[in-house]
Amino acid sequence: MLWGMEKVLICGGAGFIGANLARRLLAEGCAVTVLDDFYTGRRSNLDGLDVEVLDRDVREPIPGAYDWIFSLACPASPPHYQRDPLFTLTTSIDGIRRVLELAERCGARVLHASTSEVYGDPLVHPQPETYWGHVNTLGIRSCYDEGKRAAEVFALERRRARGTDVRLVRIFNTYGPFMDPKDGRVVSNFILQALRGEPITLYGDGGQTRSFQFVDDLVAGFLAYMRADKAALEAFFAPKGYAIPVLNMGNPGEFTVRQLAEEVLRQIPESKSELVLRPLPGDDPKRRKPDVAWAKACLGWEPRIPLRDGLAKTIAYFRTLA
Ligand code: UDP
Repeated sequence: MLWGMEKVLICGGAGFIGANLARRLLAEGCAVTVLDDFYTGRRSNLDGLDVEVLDRDVREPIPGAYDWIFSLACPASPPHYQRDPLFTLTTSIDGIRRVLELAERCGARVLHASTSEVYGDPLVHPQPETYWGHVNTLGIRSCYDEGKRAAEVFALERRRARGTDVRLVRIFNTYGPFMDPKDGRVVSNFILQALRGEPITLYGDGGQTRSFQFVDDLVAGFLAYMRADKAALEAFFAPKGYAIPVLNMGNPGEFTVRQLAEEVLRQIPESKSELVLRPLPGDDPKRRKPDVAWAKACLGWEPRIPLRDGLAKTIAYFRTLA
């Protein structure tokens, strides 16, 4: 098949990453269907797009036939995934089950969104794919972390048992246009607070770090990964002892939350906002930074957009909402 002729399903396609991915796939000439129950996805993210929309819960059997399926459906920001923890847990696990059932029926290739949260509050820094993680099974993040870890197991065992062509990507903190202004994530919170002249809320002392990836880099990584030949991926992963491909995607540039706030204020010079300290939520990882050597070796992919440039584009997006 020629690239760009694929019939594509994006589960969770009305969310932040899905909306960016849908635009890129449409630009490449793909036929795009979005499945979303709009629990956190937003209809406005699809405004003006020539996509079919299936307003459904991903935990139910999925109709249709596709070449590619992107499995992104799950609340992903801490306030959203903690709102109904068992919904989050079952969406992770039953969602991948339904995606794989569909893929096996129609012979689709699947990219499943896992997360850097599988590494928990990591004791190894930066985090390579070989790190097993340090997750509190009984903390406020566990509904998400353990759901995503179990979904990796689901994908692994179905690939092992049936040869289902499913690939895992562990996504590190990502930001950009179409983020939900209300999802409580650090980048959207700080930009909106700065634009509105409200206090910028640093949780803890703001010394914890994150690595921020602009969404266009992630979407480029998704496409490179989906287009990679199944046999070539197996040749890369089998000698490493992996029965399923798994790649980190994130930007290794590491910043403290305080540095992020300072950069946002530098880019919004008219802002009258000041930094304030707020209590650190439970189980908040102290450091996070991806090792992306495997994605580079396997796909020739690495992030290209520095935080400064990505923030400028994201601030421009949020200004249009104000
Ligand atoms: N954070 C913050 N102020 C906010 C929102 C988040 O200081 O208004 C911190 C949060 O405690 C965490 C980091 O920013 O250490 C990233 O938070 P986010 O919710 O974006 O994602 P996480 O990486 O924690 O899942």
